[in-house]
Amino acid sequence: MSRISSLCVYCGSSDSVDPVHREAAAAFGRLCAAAGIAIVFGGGRIGLMGCCADAAMAAGGEVIGVIPHHLNAVEIGHQNITRLHLVDSMHQRKQLMFELSDAFIVLPGGIGTLDEAFEIITWRHLNLHDKPVVIVDNDGYWQPFVALVDHLIDQGFAQPAVRELFTMVARVEEVLPALLALPDPARADRL
Ligand code: AMP
Repeated sequence: MSRISSLCVYCGSSDSVDPVHREAAAAFGRLCAAAGIAIVFGGGRIGLMGCCADAAMAAGGEVIGVIPHHLNAVEIGHQNITRLHLVDSMHQRKQLMFELSDAFIVLPGGIGTLDEAFEIITWRHLNLHDKPVVIVDNDGYWQPFVALVDHLIDQGFAQPAVRELFTMVARVEEVLPALLALPDPARADRL
């Protein structure tokens, strides 16, 4: 775990979701704070993003948001965090979130979370990085994601090895142990 000092959290911006996911996001924020790991996230104060950031801040953690001006302008940027980076575009935001993070954690979310998850997995597939990606299948939320990846493989559009580009865990409590258990470097021989 010594090589992990910051984790990027991708998660939903909706507030109209099952509380089981809001609780998981908050629990993950507390776990990172307790482990001394900084959270990098999309910078919003809404949805699971807000739950995770608020809980980490309340537990004395470090939280770094990266938000484009156009989203901050409509007053959804989180002001009560350690640092909020304002950038010009969504692409700059994703790039900075990538650079600031040692690994990527996917909590339940919507199309924005899916976009971020698939992009970071694709970048890893293309050997643009070798940082771990952990998907948290909280309450079985990401089973359709697993089924979709299986479908891509079944239909010949992806190799079975793409399954090794990410690690699935069932609960947020398993994320830090899973990262600890990964070989270092995470997977030099896979591609
Ligand atoms: P979604 O899963 O569609 O709710 O989108 C959430 C993800 O997209 C987060 O991980 C953010 O990085 C990004 N995102 C979407 N909407 C916002 C927002 N209003 N403020 C900040 N980030 C957002």
